[in-house]
Amino acid sequence: MEDCIFCKIARDEIPSPRLYQDDKCFVIRDINPVAPSHLLVIPYLHIADLARAAWVSEPLLGHLFAVAAQSAWREGIADSGYRLVVNQGPDSGRAVTHLHVHVLGGRRLLDQLG
Ligand code: 5GP
Ligand code: ZN
Repeated sequence: MEDCIFCKIARDEIPSPRLYQDDKCFVIRDINPVAPSHLLVIPYLHIADLARAAWVSEPLLGHLFAVAAQSAWREGIADSGYRLVVNQGPDSGRAVTHLHVHVLGGRRLLDQLG
């Protein structure tokens, strides 16, 4: 059992309302949003890096992006636009070492990518 915040949320040890869930992943709101809509698409599987994700299940990565797009549509930001972000490794500033896709929208995202 991983001692990881997203694994604990996945196991319902830490309650967090789910906007969506299926057999592979779930969607929650980021606890510290940086945009009016800030969702996290999180696989149940504890995947510590993208290379491992591709090795474990390449289709899972596609599924996470499809769920991100569906979530953006349900959130009402599909037409106005949004940004998907995956942080990988120390230089990305990643805080949680469990693969997740940020869905950011609801405002003009003027920040540079890097
Ligand atoms: P990272 O920098 O690792 O890509 O982003 C991790 C994100 O998870 C951060 O935006 C942070 O606010 C969010 N986060 C961390 N802990 C929790 C939590 O317990 N609940 C929720 N909903 N989000 C969290
Ligand atoms: Zn985890």
